[in-house]
Amino acid sequence: MKNIAVIGSGTMGNGIAHVFAQHGYSVSLIDINQDALDRAMATISKNLDRQVGKGLLTENEKTDSLTRIVTFTDLAQGVKSADLVVEAATENMSIKLDLFRKLDEFSPKSAILASNTSSISITKIAAVTSRPGQVIGMHFMNPVPVMKLVEVIRGYATSDEVTNQIMTLSQALGKDPVEVNDYPGFVANRILMPMINEAIYTLFEGVAGVQEIDTVMKLGMAHPMGPLQLADFIGLDVCLSILKVLHDGFGNPKYAPCPLLVNMVEAGYKGIKTGEGFYQYTKGSKDSVVAPRFTK
Ligand code: NAD
Repeated sequence: MKNIAVIGSGTMGNGIAHVFAQHGYSVSLIDINQDALDRAMATISKNLDRQVGKGLLTENEKTDSLTRIVTFTDLAQGVKSADLVVEAATENMSIKLDLFRKLDEFSPKSAILASNTSSISITKIAAVTSRPGQVIGMHFMNPVPVMKLVEVIRGYATSDEVTNQIMTLSQALGKDPVEVNDYPGFVANRILMPMINEAIYTLFEGVAGVQEIDTVMKLGMAHPMGPLQLADFIGLDVCLSILKVLHDGFGNPKYAPCPLLVNMVEAGYKGIKTGEGFYQYTKGSKDSVVAPRFTK
């Protein structure tokens, strides 16, 4: 595989394009929004600079990486010679199904179509294409250039050959891929989201305050971030939508989202992205906690 098309140039798409380009692949980065593409190229350049600063890359390698990325707003143009498409567009079922119908039409018949979805069924996405054996989940973690894990998700019809190709490719990107089957939440979110939900219930029921809960998990379980701070980082709306996928998919009340989480999302308190969640954030900053809310 040489030519990679990445769909969506937001948080994940720019990281995925960065990692492929850094490892010598030609990347077509595609978004419906030209501003998003411009922002993505600026972010990739800044993140490559950071790697140069740490001695992980040379200036020349940075320049070569950037020149391997070409941006497109036209989907058909961007995917026409792709060996692999990695879709990282907005997490919305109808957007993804529509995109995969088009990807099936516009990309070479031999191309593998991968999705970076956090929670949408790979089997369902694959079923709208004429090549379900060549559709797979490639779930990178945020921030992509830093995090080693790729959850490789086999849909019901994904072939062994395609799974092996994606496992090998992920290793070539310096990642540690893990193969999992396609059930709600896959593995990462199936385990993480109930833990976050339980932390929110613990707060909701007044067992402990925000900082106390996070401190217990940081110091007691060696988690680098407490579950409530992590929820703010992921986005409370994203956490809520993944919990709904688990709840609907398994029909088990243990996945029911905590009413406090539902209320906060409805009130617009979505974490870092809106400046306030379980903590308050200085605008634009990712890590400056000003004051925790809901403490005792
Ligand atoms: P984002 O909102 O930052 O970026 C999404 C981008 O997709 C936007 O630039 C938007 O313009 C573009 N887009 C929307 N519709 C499009 C279309 N039809 N064609 C081309 N581009 C389109 O989102 P994100 O956080 O980067 O998430 C992308 C995907 O990655 C989602 O499926 C999400 O679940 C998954 N994911 C996110 C994270 C995370 O921490 N943010 C982690 C793992 C997986």
